[in-house]
Amino acid sequence: MSEEHQESYHSDNLIDLMNYTLTNDHLQLLKKLGEMAAKLRMNLFLVGGTVRDMLRGVPGGDLDLVIEGDALAFSQNVANVLGGKVKHHEPFATATWVGAENLKLDIVSARAESYAKPGALPTIRHSHITDDLARRDFSINAMAIHLHPASYGQLVDPFHGRHDLTNGLIRILHSQSFIDDPTRLFRGVRFVSRFNYRFEQKTANLALATQPALTNALANVSPERIVHELKLLCHETDPVSSFSKLEDLHVWQALLGLTFSSSSATHLSRLQEEQNGEPLHWFQAIATVGFLEDNWKASLVPFAITSMEQRFLQNIEDIQKRLTNMTRFSTDYLHKQLYQVPEEPLRFYALSSGEEMQKVLDLYLHQRKQLQPLLTGHDLMELGMKPSPLFKECLLLHECEQLKGTIENKQDALQFAREFFNQKQRL
Ligand code: ATP
Repeated sequence: MSEEHQESYHSDNLIDLMNYTLTNDHLQLLKKLGEMAAKLRMNLFLVGGTVRDMLRGVPGGDLDLVIEGDALAFSQNVANVLGGKVKHHEPFATATWVGAENLKLDIVSARAESYAKPGALPTIRHSHITDDLARRDFSINAMAIHLHPASYGQLVDPFHGRHDLTNGLIRILHSQSFIDDPTRLFRGVRFVSRFNYRFEQKTANLALATQPALTNALANVSPERIVHELKLLCHETDPVSSFSKLEDLHVWQALLGLTFSSSSATHLSRLQEEQNGEPLHWFQAIATVGFLEDNWKASLVPFAITSMEQRFLQNIEDIQKRLTNMTRFSTDYLHKQLYQVPEEPLRFYALSSGEEMQKVLDLYLHQRKQLQPLLTGHDLMELGMKPSPLFKECLLLHECEQLKGTIENKQDALQFAREFFNQKQRL
């Protein structure tokens, strides 16, 4: 950062920093919106992650705006003046405006919140910016920048988030914060890991002290909200350390009744290595917690929201059942047992296994991928057979023979099929 920008970093007016970190399109838009709000006698603010990142000298991302007034009416006004489309999200009086060239804004009415019970969604009422910042998760995310022309660029920082940014601290805003909304534990470890920060001491103590009430509080949070946080966690660079921190905070016990043990950590690291830089799949990540402990599947069922996740659980159960009863581990034998199981759950299972089993499954998967079946249903019909469930059996067995190396070419395969059907007809 240049000296000039270093200076604005320390000043309470962030105009220079805004000019430095925001795109021209964003800057022009924010100025215009601030003026429009002022004409309507409303105050408009830039808030949240963008302000935090700006103060870290990182170019801004999404534009989140708070208005002291009616966000729905204001966003409609924006669309009337600037064009573009508005989408209203009624329950929380929030709006998204999308303009030309993908310019996008989230606008919300400044509000105060109260929680009827731990973990439940909050009750809200319109209020001022300071109330709005007070409902936020951490001090570093509870800063705003004035967009009103008279005070444009002025920082609003009632919880000393800027000080915490300088000192690398994640600090909650009140002692009930984690109980009100336990998803903040997930968010907290995510920011700790992303910025290499630490929980401020009182926050760390309160995170730990949440434990007795955590199971109840988490029970009031919908699986969808947890899944949202897990997805975000898995997009960060070091989900393994975040999962371990959540274990230290007893979150997995409270959420699933399971432990993220050192073998879970190894499993998750191996999965991550296989991703080659792509984000981990959140369901595979949570599935490493207490993998195959007695209540593992039952604990994950509420999070298996889509059929893909449900199938994954079923696949793992199948693999486990079949491998437990298996006495031989030749590739052809494995194929007979596991041919229907997709690659992903097999890889997942392999990566949780000891060295021997991992080798066996790796080899099987490798050979299965290389396998080019020599027979098709069409071939069997050409041999004069009528389609029946025997087709499936014959095709599978011929694949097993191919894997074993006893069928090497089309002729062998056709001969195998003839013998198979002859034998069946004799029975
Ligand atoms: P990221 O860089 O990960 O997008 P962000 O801070 O922009 O970080 P969002 O999830 O988009 O993250 O949230 C926007 C803002 O909303 C946050 O900065 C914070 O002020 C507030 N917020 C989000 N989730 C919570 C929560 N669970 N409790 C309180 N405030 C929250």
